[in-house]
Amino acid sequence: MDRNTRIAVIGAGLGGLTVAGFLQRAGFPVTVYEQAPAFSRIGAGIILSANAMKVLRRLGVERALIETGIKPDCYISRAWDTGESMYEIYFDAASEERYGGPYLNIHRGDLHEILARVVPPSTVRFNHQLVGLDRAGGAYRLVFGNGSTVAADIVIGADGIRSKVREVLLGEQPPRFTGAVAHRAIFPSERLGGFKIPDCTKWWGPDRHCLPYFMTSKRNEVYVIGVIPAAEWASEAASMPSSREALMADFADFHQDLQRVLEATEDVSVWPIFDRERDDRWSGDDIVLMGDACHPVRPYMAAGGAMAIEDGAILSRCLEKCDNSAEAFKWYEATRIPRVADVQRISIENSWMRGPTETDWFYCYDPCVVELIRPN
Ligand SMILES: Cc1cc2nc3c(=O)[nH]c(=O)nc-3n(C[C@H](O)[C@H](O)[C@H](O)COP(=O)(O)OP(=O)(O)OC[C@H]3O[C@@H](n4cnc5c(N)ncnc54)[C@H](O)[C@@H]3O)c2cc1C
Repeated sequence: MDRNTRIAVIGAGLGGLTVAGFLQRAGFPVTVYEQAPAFSRIGAGIILSANAMKVLRRLGVERALIETGIKPDCYISRAWDTGESMYEIYFDAASEERYGGPYLNIHRGDLHEILARVVPPSTVRFNHQLVGLDRAGGAYRLVFGNGSTVAADIVIGADGIRSKVREVLLGEQPPRFTGAVAHRAIFPSERLGGFKIPDCTKWWGPDRHCLPYFMTSKRNEVYVIGVIPAAEWASEAASMPSSREALMADFADFHQDLQRVLEATEDVSVWPIFDRERDDRWSGDDIVLMGDACHPVRPYMAAGGAMAIEDGAILSRCLEKCDNSAEAFKWYEATRIPRVADVQRISIENSWMRGPTETDWFYCYDPCVVELIRPN
């Protein structure tokens, strides 16, 4: 591809910042347009597995992530009632060697703050909500809610589950409510009153689960996500206030070790879980989707962010390698769709690490060197 090709990335989320970082390093002029006025520290944790960490290493932020988040020493699956261990995986020097990178838990706000460093600050234009997109004279004209317009040769839609770029490409199609909502809470570990917990535990119930984990290497901040069935989400809001009482009521039958953790929560909010039916059309003329914009997954494998990060590395490699965007997008789709389809399926099943699990295919994958798949 001609290195003068102007690339506009819509959305400064995990995928958008990753792809922008790689494309800039490859010599393309890239600008990222973000609707938010600034990055904010939303109250949630995120897990990044080795497959994603290897990408972030190439962008120079692995050390900062490790210093800020925590490399948990284990992930334990336990039965909701007896507390019996169903599966345990330990993370240490040997597992890092095997997977090629660490497993990391981190506050989302911290992840974002660090990921933003992979591009110069002037790359990201805040307060730019994409509201329109059309073709004019061989280039795209992007129209923003603040009244400004810009031209770009390639548009990358990294604008999340309610992607405007997706709407332009594929038509309006609201995301699907999955029939589940997630309570989320963060609290200082001292509220556990000395009660010891493993670094990361998933409590598995018949129709719900709860995952408490530390988010910092000092183990001074705990994140809890508790997913329960729900008939509907009757709100336009991305989240609603909840309470410790509601959270504890929803997990009242669970083992006392989990009760001790839930008692320590203070601020609790509840978030709907949406996804979309699998759709394998991710691109059009000089326009392409990535991350949640084309394949939102249920958060039960802790893999949606990792998929957006992997997309960023692969999409950049395809654009570097090919002579034109149409060819690049075919390589990108051929490489990404089979892997993402497996992750979507496992996330819907909610089966990852419930019992004995073969993890190598997921964690050992390195998007920066894996062989790209030739399109048919
Ligand atoms: C409860 C929950 C827990 C999760 N836990 C994990 C986990 O542990 N590990 C993991 O890997 N994944 C997890 N995920 C999934 C992960 O959060 C997403 O898959 C990931 O954030 C997708 O990244 P993205 O870059 O595609 O989109 P996003 O991170 O959603 O970023 C999209 C960006 O685009 C911007 N934007 C949107 N519309 C416009 C517009 N019109 N114009 C300009 N900008 C726009 C948004 O403001 C945002 O900054 C979880 C998800 C949920 C709901």
